[in-house]
Amino acid sequence: MDIYQKLAILSDSAKYDVSCSSSGAESNFQKGMIGCNEKSGICHTFTEDGRCVSLLKVLFTNFCIYDCSYCINRQSNDIKRAAFSARELADLTLNFYKRNYIEGLFLSSGILDNEDKTMELLIKALEILRFEYRFNGYIHLKLIPGASQYLIEKACHLATRVSSNLELPSSKSLQLLAPDKTQKNLMQPLKYAKDFSLQNRNRPIPMTTQLIIGATPESDFDILRLSSNLYNKALLKRVYYSAYIPTNDDKNLPSIQTTPPTVREHRLYQADWLLRFYGFSYGEILEKRENLDLDFDPKMIWALDNLELFPVEINHVDKEFLIKIPGIGIRGAHKILKARRFQNLSFENLKKLGISLKRAKYFITIRGKYFGEKEFYPEYIKRALTKPKKKGFYQPSLFDTFAPAITGEL
Ligand code: SF4
Repeated sequence: MDIYQKLAILSDSAKYDVSCSSSGAESNFQKGMIGCNEKSGICHTFTEDGRCVSLLKVLFTNFCIYDCSYCINRQSNDIKRAAFSARELADLTLNFYKRNYIEGLFLSSGILDNEDKTMELLIKALEILRFEYRFNGYIHLKLIPGASQYLIEKACHLATRVSSNLELPSSKSLQLLAPDKTQKNLMQPLKYAKDFSLQNRNRPIPMTTQLIIGATPESDFDILRLSSNLYNKALLKRVYYSAYIPTNDDKNLPSIQTTPPTVREHRLYQADWLLRFYGFSYGEILEKRENLDLDFDPKMIWALDNLELFPVEINHVDKEFLIKIPGIGIRGAHKILKARRFQNLSFENLKKLGISLKRAKYFITIRGKYFGEKEFYPEYIKRALTKPKKKGFYQPSLFDTFAPAITGEL
């Protein structure tokens, strides 16, 4: 099998991993035209300063000794299999880099023979890249649960970012769908990587993980509690949520007909954003419900569930509460706080600052006046904000009033 056949198989096998943001665009080569997106292979991730980085996203091998019910690469599936050598993968990465196709590598793998052997092969490829080819670019490496601590530490020295997928939100679900794995075992590489970061404070290694949503019965409360613990205790940079896509026919999985719960995934990302940047706790977000509302973003629902705390006077409310007002994001709050130093803000002042009052007006007073069309009255606000529920699958639109702004402001 030549290297391009291997690339086709191993990049296709990597496409279900979302713990780097990826593009799903597809357009085939056409004679006389410029531009072609292969359906898999190149994905994108974002640096801390918001820069978009294109990555070669690939598995080292899709052979695997395990048989996780939800995984396309599980041992019992009859699929084309391939494995790179360390040198092949390093050469491929460097050649793509030199041709300006990619800026880095996202490398994961099935388990070949055993965990240590697999981790050693991944490390070997990275060593060739880093030391022989002197490649200094971005490398996101999936750590192999069950690999020895010294190998994980070695991997942390070589990679730019590492991750280990917890996959399912509870031990019970793991027992059902991936009986060879335990939550403790899956957490172990993250613990080793955390120790690495604590010992190398001048070069801590950012860590991420992925949770599959909708394959098992955990509520959003369970999922956000887990994410919150991961952020607080494991020093994780990001938890990625992956709407369950049926790839295998397995009696323990939801029906093969199931539509991926993408709206739920989207709401979880919004709630996760509130955990990380808006000072909310998971208990606050889901104080009065088990699952996030699919029609409204979580900040709006929190406000509707806590109407007794509103309306607040925009000229007096403190920063912590200001960012909890629906429609006012972090940047908007900063603008308001800065402008408040010089004047008592009016409706027009807020508009000039670019603050969208479409949603916020129901939850604030401005110079003591309420602008929510009628008197402040809980049921009225709910009705004014409630859109008719759409039945079945609903894809949020960029132009939907209730979808989050692409800046992440909620
Ligand atoms: S160990 Fe990983 S690659 Fe192997 S079957 Fe399970 S999820 Fe798939």
